[in-house]
Amino acid sequence: MDKTIKIYGAGLAGCEAAWQAARMGVKVELYEMKPEKYTPAHHSQSFAELVCSNSLRSDSVTNAVGLLKEELRRMGSLIMEAADATRVPAGSALAVDRDKFSAYITDKICTHPNITVISREMTEVDDGITVVATGPLTSDRMSEYIQRELVGEGLHFFDAAAPIVDADSINMDVAFFASRYDKGDADYINCPMSEEQYNAFWEALVTAEEAQLKEFDKQELKVFEGCKPIEVDAKRGRETLLYGPLKPVGLVDKRVGRTAHAVVQLRRENAEGTMYNLVGFQTHLTFPEQRRVFRMIPGLENAEFLRYGVMHRNTYIESPGKLDVTYKLISRPNVYFAGQMTGVEGYIESTGSGFVAGLNAARGALGLDPIVFPRTTMIGAMASYVAVGGASSFEPMKANFGIIEPWPERVRGGNIAKYEKLAERSLAEIDRIAESLKI
Ligand SMILES: Cc1cc2nc3c(=O)[nH]c(=O)nc-3n(C[C@H](O)[C@H](O)[C@H](O)COP(=O)(O)OP(=O)(O)OC[C@H]3O[C@@H](n4cnc5c(N)ncnc54)[C@H](O)[C@@H]3O)c2cc1C
Repeated sequence: MDKTIKIYGAGLAGCEAAWQAARMGVKVELYEMKPEKYTPAHHSQSFAELVCSNSLRSDSVTNAVGLLKEELRRMGSLIMEAADATRVPAGSALAVDRDKFSAYITDKICTHPNITVISREMTEVDDGITVVATGPLTSDRMSEYIQRELVGEGLHFFDAAAPIVDADSINMDVAFFASRYDKGDADYINCPMSEEQYNAFWEALVTAEEAQLKEFDKQELKVFEGCKPIEVDAKRGRETLLYGPLKPVGLVDKRVGRTAHAVVQLRRENAEGTMYNLVGFQTHLTFPEQRRVFRMIPGLENAEFLRYGVMHRNTYIESPGKLDVTYKLISRPNVYFAGQMTGVEGYIESTGSGFVAGLNAARGALGLDPIVFPRTTMIGAMASYVAVGGASSFEPMKANFGIIEPWPERVRGGNIAKYEKLAERSLAEIDRIAESLKI
């Protein structure tokens, strides 16, 4: 059996995948198009380039991405080793010196005896085991090939998503369950607004700070007419939203027996009902502004945002039904995907998928059974989200406690107490898996 695998893209996911495969004794050919060709966001020759912020976000295990980091650390992640070796002071977050971070990883990859680095833009896959980790800005020729030969229509080039909040953080003394005109199963949570509350919200929305758009995102936004940001719609006039996403008609709060001036609807995001998205709230306000303005919505005063709204260029697969929980392409079992491409979102989330795909691609090359991480772990919850999706349309997702297997009973002491229990359960499971794999 050929024990060589190919990995396309030496970003966060590709480097992690290469490292995990190489340390299992599998030979890796790692193909990276830099320095011959650069995406619009990559500028350095080094691998695992952080294209924007140098923060890898929270380092606490009671935060979902912090838990994912700890899981990766315990299983010998190269990206986490580099992050810990090159960290800079940043309070409770893990931030890194980006140049040292990339240099550390590049050196480890280039000097590993099982890894051969080849500088080339890849445009197709052959019959060998291959992990495609070419990222959110995959080159055009590779994107076209993926669409044409591998995933068909299920390849997206733009991500326009509304924020998602933790169901437990919605104030149900104010919000109420109902469907418009009582159709369906009252699956929506509705946040009613008086005229005064609506006016204050509208003022805040139209004056809130928007995130800086990259030049290539501006181009994409122009052609992406189907999905306008809510703040752009709001600027068309004070009343516009009352005929759009905040339309109150048919939504009666039975506790008071009348319809409010405006209503924000939240739609269930997963089967368990632990996450809800704000319907029609695609936005490119900055994250702090989303938190400030959307918390003005009655019932969301203390909302915990599991994901903020985004609008940016992003190549990703509509993965549910196409990839399995090891990130393997079901229709072409020699092909794995990893990184942002799979519908995970963020540096560490991309790393996590690279870990799972690299480990399993190597196991495939060695003729071993796959390792499926359970949903009680954050790394497994992300893989399950990618393979199965949520209840509504599939959108890229950051690590969050809404997708992990819920704790079986109500936990006293609020969310932090609950997250502590979830983290403890997850890390015990990770330790057990790491021990069984001797990693
Ligand atoms: C502009 C922008 C800003 C972002 N900012 C953040 C942020 O601040 N924080 C955060 O957590 N996440 C951020 N993300 C999201 C995402 O987490 C990162 O992009 C992350 O780097 C994704 O990891 P990856 O390994 O999937 O892809 P990448 O790290 O992008 O790596 C992909 C690699 O593949 C190479 N490549 C592309 N096409 C080919 C080809 N055909 N053949 C060979 N090589 C190829 C690229 O050169 C690149 O080196 C951002 C994304 C973008 C686009």
